[in-house]
Amino acid sequence: MSKFWSPLVSSLVPYVPGEQPKMANLVKLNTNENPYGPSPKVIEAIQAELNDSLRLYPDPEGESLRHTIACYHNVTPEQVFLGNGSDEVLAHIFYALFQHGQPILYPDVTYSFYPVYCGLYNIEGKTVPLTDSFEINPEDYKQPNGGIIFPNPNAPTGRYLELEHVEEILRANPDRVVVVDEAYVDFGGESAIRLVGQNPNLLVCQTLSKARSLAGLRVGFAIGHPDLVEALNRVKNSFNSYPLDRLALAGAKAAYEDKAWFQKSCDGVISERERVAGELSCLGFEVLPSKANFVFARHKEKSGENLAKELREQGIIVRHFNKPRISEFLRITIGTSEQNDALITALKSL
Ligand code: PMP
Repeated sequence: MSKFWSPLVSSLVPYVPGEQPKMANLVKLNTNENPYGPSPKVIEAIQAELNDSLRLYPDPEGESLRHTIACYHNVTPEQVFLGNGSDEVLAHIFYALFQHGQPILYPDVTYSFYPVYCGLYNIEGKTVPLTDSFEINPEDYKQPNGGIIFPNPNAPTGRYLELEHVEEILRANPDRVVVVDEAYVDFGGESAIRLVGQNPNLLVCQTLSKARSLAGLRVGFAIGHPDLVEALNRVKNSFNSYPLDRLALAGAKAAYEDKAWFQKSCDGVISERERVAGELSCLGFEVLPSKANFVFARHKEKSGENLAKELREQGIIVRHFNKPRISEFLRITIGTSEQNDALITALKSL
């Protein structure tokens, strides 16, 4: 606390990102990064941009990348908004579209950045409990609200909500923006982007950090009706006109162009996920059905906190949340098959 702080700052409760340890040789399964790395074409594209043009500002609207993403998802470039990671896109969404004097709704177990943005922008958030099996029940989103947001698949549960249920939530809230945060959708879910044309209140948010293995490049985007995108652009251009640098714009475009790499990488994660889930069940874990690049699991006898500690002593880091309902769970990112083997071997020894 300091007398120099703006009044709001002392009451902020910032997001705590997963640890990025400095130690080498750790099996790092704690922040849902992609184990396989980006396409070599991404590296080439970034290297080609390492030249004198770095003295010039990048394209503030990222037109070329927006065009590529629009073509890929069968929408128009006016329906695409780019940001410095989807976290930045989400921040602008909260500011631009969620301030209607009524609480916004999100699940009680979900991405922990949502309440942080509520705190930053003074928006009231109302948590909607997931069912006993940690699923979103669309019925619970038929109540007055100032907007709705949930990840699909949800994080950290990994559970996926079928699109017919997403549509049900959209239909019940025609006067509010419904944001579907699809950070993990490419690992087995179907994107709600195909619903954007019929639903002017739908905004879908995606990232290149997971399925395209570019967490270090910081690129995310939202797709929705041009009116929603314009609101985001107004906020962006009142905050930072150049959120994506030249390297990020070039690398992201190349990532979208290499469909084969993307497909192979997703297939690899999905098949490893099913293997890991099976092994964990054999070891006495209850594993929630996951369509993400992680699994969420609790052991029938051993405490989540102790397991996380004991794994760490063996050089394996997973994520444990000391929060209501989920304090016995571990969120385990799917790694390479060697990393997953190391995890299973360590758990057997425990
Ligand atoms: N949404 C969800 C549900 C996430 O888990 C994450 C990753 N922490 C993000 C958004 C943000 O991803 P990024 O900023 O890397 O695009």
